[in-house]
Formats: sequence, structure tokens, C-alpha cells
Amino acid sequence: MIPPVLPTYNRAPLAFVKGEGSWLLAEDGRRYLDLGSGIAVNVLGHAHPALVQTLTEQAGKLWHVSNVYTVPEQERLAGLLTDQTFADTVFFTNSGTETAELAIKMARKFHYENGQPERVEIIAFEGAFHGRSTGAIAAAGSEKMVKGFGPLMPGFKHLKWGDHDAIRSAITEKTCAVIIEPIQGEGGIRVVPDQCLKGLRDLCDETGTLLIFDEVQCGMGRTGRLFAHEWAGVTPDIMMVAKGIGGGFPLGAVLATENAAKGMTAGTHGSTYGGNPLGCAVGAKVVELVSDPAFLAEVTRKGALLRQGLESLVARHPTVFESVRGEGLMLGLKCKPAPADVVKAGYGAGILVIAAADNVVRLLPALNIPDADIAEALTRLDQAATALAA
Ligand SMILES: *Cc1c(COP(=O)(O)O)cnc(C)c1O
Repeated sequence: MIPPVLPTYNRAPLAFVKGEGSWLLAEDGRRYLDLGSGIAVNVLGHAHPALVQTLTEQAGKLWHVSNVYTVPEQERLAGLLTDQTFADTVFFTNSGTETAELAIKMARKFHYENGQPERVEIIAFEGAFHGRSTGAIAAAGSEKMVKGFGPLMPGFKHLKWGDHDAIRSAITEKTCAVIIEPIQGEGGIRVVPDQCLKGLRDLCDETGTLLIFDEVQCGMGRTGRLFAHEWAGVTPDIMMVAKGIGGGFPLGAVLATENAAKGMTAGTHGSTYGGNPLGCAVGAKVVELVSDPAFLAEVTRKGALLRQGLESLVARHPTVFESVRGEGLMLGLKCKPAPADVVKAGYGAGILVIAAADNVVRLLPALNIPDADIAEALTRLDQAATALAA
């Protein structure tokens, strides 16, 4: 019999009742160290006092008004984002997949406005993940996500990971945009080298192609810069942001240059909930705290600390782990056994990690994880690996 909740997830038999910092308390009273953060969402940990205060204060004032009206909280958050990024303008959504939808629409509309309506084709990469809407699954094009879902939105071309020559020859007079995650999350913490992002930017400039960065997972401070592409010293035309920006409140944003956004005039796009006062108040507090250079420096330091510990974990457990990859606090452990087994061994040791493709488990802790919790995480991962090796 089908359960009341549609069974589209492979769920662990674990339910949590309370969160505090990097810790989650399960129904049975057991405490788990959370290195998944709701998949890179709880950037400030669980129940961060400043976010609780912001949320409850706003909840007592105003939750939702229509985008028929001016929303000051939205303007404030948009201002914080445009001040600190390449972007001139922002549209708010409730999720990452909705940012994919707008990024695709915006890119196509741009060329339409430029008198090149034939430029509709978007180039994406193997292993990519951009969400679960019909447009986003067409963009990522992975067999497991698209099979059985009928005709896909046309106009996407999929290239092999890391094949530079293929990118150049794939761009034609029909090409609209290139969409890429600077670090693939679901794909297994695969980092695009800075040189490649630079090369891609040059290629897009040469050919009038728009460059879309999907920073839904790798953005919002995770790599030690507010956005991951900053390390490469290049900027996109359009950027997708979600997950961490709400710190746990459903919120996403599409950031764009004035030029890239020029087709998106009144009536061309919208959302009922997107950018509501509650979400934007929380988002503004998250951006304020995370974009502080001192906070970001700490992310880099903590990332190096965790990474160092993981390197020795790999050395101690060569039958379980192969290598460490990633940047900042977006780290992956390449595993010998199936990642699902490592995740399960983690449950046994009281630590939560997340499986990804390419035989990797992801470590995406809260960006403010205390050093003591990093040490505890390494101890628990060691226990999990010892149990697995036995
Ligand atoms: C999670 C994710 C998405 C989709 O976000 P949802 O909020 O689940 O719709 C898109 N792109 C990347 C890179 C992601 O990690």
C-alpha cells in the first residue's frame, strides 16, 4: 500500500525533533553531529539565535504580501546582494529549481530581444544537477532523472565533464548560454578548475553566449568566498542561488547583470511566494552574517582544519576512503565501498553525511561549526570507518 507521503525518497529511519548548532536530536533521544546541513542549507547551523530572532520578529509583523505591491524586505535583500556581487538585479524564488527555470527563460529572452531568436540552445555538463522541474531535468539530462517523463524541453546539449575542446566546437550560431556549477554538488564535489572557468568566460565573450553559474550548492560562503566563482576572478551573466541563502527558510534568487536581464520586463515572469517578507527578512540576516569578511576567513580556516583531518582519515582507512576533494567547507570523500554504506556507518557513529555521485560522500557542515565539533566529527568518522572496515 502506498504510504500517505509519496515515496519518492529513499529515507533513513531517522526523525529529528530539535536542532542546535551543528547537532540534531532524534526522536529516540540520540544526538547526531550534522555534517549535511540539510544539504548545504543550514549555513549557520540549526536554530541560530539571530535567525530565530529575525524570523519571529518578522512573523509578528508581516508574513506575506503579493508582488502586486512593493516589498521593502525584498528590496533590502536585493540591495545587499547587488552590493556584494557582479549583479545589478535580483529575482526571488522559493527554491533552486525555480532559479533554473528563470535562468533558462532569461537567457533565451536576452537573445530574442537582441534579434537573434534562433539562439535557444543551452550547453550543460554531464553530472550536473539543476533541480527537478521539467526544464531543470532537461538541462541536467541525467538518465535517472529524465526516464519516463515524456518529451523533454528541447534545446539542451550535454557535454562530457572536463572536455574543453568539446565546449568550443559545441558553440554554434544557435547557442544561447552555458550553464555550469563551479563545483558540482550532487555530481560528487567535482571542482571546475579556475583556469576552466576563465576559459569558459572568454569563450562566451567571444561568441556572445551568456554564462550561467549555478551556485545553489557551492555559493553562500561555502568555499570561503561569498560565491565560489570569486576564486577564479570571473563573473557570470546570470547566477542561480538558493539552499544556504535562507539558512533553512525556503528561498532562492536569480542574480543577473542589467544586460542579461534586459528582456525580463513587467509581466514576463512572476511568483506568488517568491520574495515574501518572511523569507527576505531571514535571507537578509543570513547574507549580512555570512558576507562578513571575518566570517568568510573563518570558513576557509575551518575548511583547512577539516580537510587536514580528513586526509589523515583517508591515510588510516585505505580500504574505506580513497581521497579528499572540494574547497572550503564543501568537501567530499571518495569512497571504496558504496557511499550509502558509509552514510549508514555514519548513522551508527552518530554523524550525518550525504551521499553523492562518483562514489563520494559529501561533508557540508554549518559554516560556523565550532572547532571542537570538527574534532568530534573526525572522531566519529574514524569510528564509522573502523566499523565499515571490520
Ligand atoms: C539543490 C540544487 C538545485 C535545486 O534546488 P531545489 O531547491 O532542490 O529545487 C539546483 N542546483 C544545484 C547545484 C543544487 O545543488
